[in-house]
Amino acid sequence: MKQRQAFRTAFPNHRKLPRRLPIAMWRAVQLASIAMLVGLCFLLGSRPEAGLKLFWQVIIPFLPLLLFTAPGVWRNICPIATINQLPSHLGISMLRKVPGTLRRHSLWISAGLLSLIIPLRKLVLNSDAAALAICFVGVLAVAFVMGCLFKGKSGWCTSFCPVLPVERLYGQTPFVRALNAHCEPCRVCTTNCYDRNPPIAFLEEQFRGNRNSDSALSAFAALFPGLIAGYYTISEPVELAVLEVYGYFGICMAVSAVLCWLLSALTRWNAGYRTMLFTILAFNLYYWFNAPLIAELIASPWPTSVLWTLRSLVFCLSVMWGVRTFRLQRQYHQLIASSTAISSPFSSMMSADLELNEKIGSKNQD
Ligand code: SF4
Repeated sequence: MKQRQAFRTAFPNHRKLPRRLPIAMWRAVQLASIAMLVGLCFLLGSRPEAGLKLFWQVIIPFLPLLLFTAPGVWRNICPIATINQLPSHLGISMLRKVPGTLRRHSLWISAGLLSLIIPLRKLVLNSDAAALAICFVGVLAVAFVMGCLFKGKSGWCTSFCPVLPVERLYGQTPFVRALNAHCEPCRVCTTNCYDRNPPIAFLEEQFRGNRNSDSALSAFAALFPGLIAGYYTISEPVELAVLEVYGYFGICMAVSAVLCWLLSALTRWNAGYRTMLFTILAFNLYYWFNAPLIAELIASPWPTSVLWTLRSLVFCLSVMWGVRTFRLQRQYHQLIASSTAISSPFSSMMSADLELNEKIGSKNQD
C-alpha cells in the first residue's frame, strides 16, 4: 500500500492533474500560433531579412528553454502539431496504425531528420528566406497528411517530428506540467506517450521500452552535444562543400559519442544517468553559444556581465533539472526493485498512466 502511494506521489496520474487553462483557451492559442506561422511565411516572402532574423534570432533561441522547462506547453501550442491534429478534430482522420517497422524505428528516423536539418541551416536555411518558407509549407503539408492517415499523434508528433528527440531528452523532468490539449479522447496511439506523462514515458522508454527506441534515445543523447558543437563551430557563410559540412558534423558527433562511451567505461553509470548528463551538456552548450545573441536582444552593445549572467542562470537551471531527474530516476529504480522483491505484479502498484502504457504496448505489438 505504502509503495503504491509512493509511486503515485512520484508519478502522479497525468489525467488527474488539475487543468489550469480551459481547452477553449488552448484552442485560441493554437489558432494564434498557426496565424503567426502563416504571418512568418508572408514576412519571409515580403521582407526576407526581417523574417529570417525573427525566426532564427528571436524565436529559435528560446525554444529549447521552453522544451526544458515546460515541454507540454510547446506540444500544446506547436502550430505543426495543431495542423497534424486537425483531421482528428474534424473527424476526417482514417485513424490507421503506423506500420510496425516504421513505428519501431521512428526515433531513429526523427533523429536522422534532425541531423540532416541542422547542417542544412548552415547551408541554406539560415540565409534563404524562400527556402525556409517552402520548408514550413512542406512540413505542414506532411503533418496534415499524416494526421489524415494515422490515429492520434502517431503519424507525426510522437513518431517522425525532427524536434521529438530533443523534446524527449529535455522533457524528462518538466518544471511545469501542462495537460495535453489535443487528444480528447486519448486514442491509445503511442506507447510511452510524452503527451500523457513525460517523466514516466521517458523512464519506461529508457529502461523498459523496445530495444530500438531505447538504444536510439541513448545514442541520440550521446551524439546531440556534438551536433550542437558542430553547428556553432563551423563558420558562416560556409565555404565548404556540402559533403564536407556533413562530414564535419559527423566528426563532431563521433567525438561526442566517444566521450559518452568513455564516461560509460569509466563510471559504469546506467544509460539513464549518462543520458541525463549529456542532456545537461547539450543544453549548456546551446546557451553558451546563444548567450551573445540573447544578450543582444536585451542590451546592445551588451556588457560582458549580461553574457555571463545568462550562462550562469542556464547552468543553475540545468543543475536543478539534473538533481530532479536524478532523484526521479533513483525513485523509479527503487520502486521497481521493491515491487520485484515482494513479487507483486508490478502493474498493480503503477499509476493509471503506466497501466495504460502497458495496454497500449501490448495492443501495438505486431
Ligand atoms: S497515446 Fe493518447 S495522448 Fe498520446 S498522442 Fe496518442 S492519442 Fe494522444
